[in-house]
Amino acid sequence: MIEMPEAVTIAQQMNETLTGKTIASFARGNLIHKFLWLNRPDEEYQAILTGKTVSGASNFGRSIYLHLGPETRLCWGDFGGRILYHEAGQPLPKSFHLVWEFSDGAHLTYALQMWGGVRLLDSTHIAEQSHPDDGFQPLSPEFTLERLDEMLDAYPEKTSKGVKGFLVATGYVTPNHIAGLGNAYAQDILFRAGIDPRRKTPNLSADHRRKLFDAIQQTMQDAIALNGRDEEHDLFDQPGHYTRLMDSRKVGQPCPVCGTAIMKLQYLGGACYLCPGCQE
Ligand SMILES: [Zn+2]
Repeated sequence: MIEMPEAVTIAQQMNETLTGKTIASFARGNLIHKFLWLNRPDEEYQAILTGKTVSGASNFGRSIYLHLGPETRLCWGDFGGRILYHEAGQPLPKSFHLVWEFSDGAHLTYALQMWGGVRLLDSTHIAEQSHPDDGFQPLSPEFTLERLDEMLDAYPEKTSKGVKGFLVATGYVTPNHIAGLGNAYAQDILFRAGIDPRRKTPNLSADHRRKLFDAIQQTMQDAIALNGRDEEHDLFDQPGHYTRLMDSRKVGQPCPVCGTAIMKLQYLGGACYLCPGCQE
């Protein structure tokens, strides 16, 4: 699934590549998927999008926004898959779920994995709601150690989701959440911070909190500088260059810090990878 570093990369590439292009058509691709959500009938997408010119692109957390003038945006929210750009004359992928053609013959295709929504926002949506992935973005001026302390203190203890649950929480869980983190980067953040993903948030010391804050910032900075994870692809179908410290490829291998074998455990509906020697 796309997390913030991948969203930053794709939004920047969209901004550079698509700005100024005019949408000639929108259509379904040659695949259907029951976990692809559009917020309007296809006819409205076609009617509203046709003739609109891209004025830029941006991201908030893991959401990507394609700006079509001041009153219309396309938003890829919490999603997996590939959004790919194809120059005029380039062949399209064998399979995809949605396609936008531009007046110069270029295309944008979206092939979904797992789940994803592409919402068409009008001026009312834009004015009324901020972001589906609301919260505080790592690396933003608002996200400080003091803010993290407040968020940890406000995190609902009764859910007992541990610090991993806190890191990947969305606005549905708590309004004061970190925007843009998911299960992938959470593993590396917790390894860097030396914290067991199952540790309950009230049991985090001041030292843990400082290390957690630093690890979030460092991991996001590193991953953005490297165009995201090597298991995800950018707008031009190129993989990112960030290799995770903790993932399925590392299970059983020695920890780079202490040499203990890296282990896998199932926790909160997903796999966790951790070093039992370094993470307490
Ligand atoms: Zn270790």
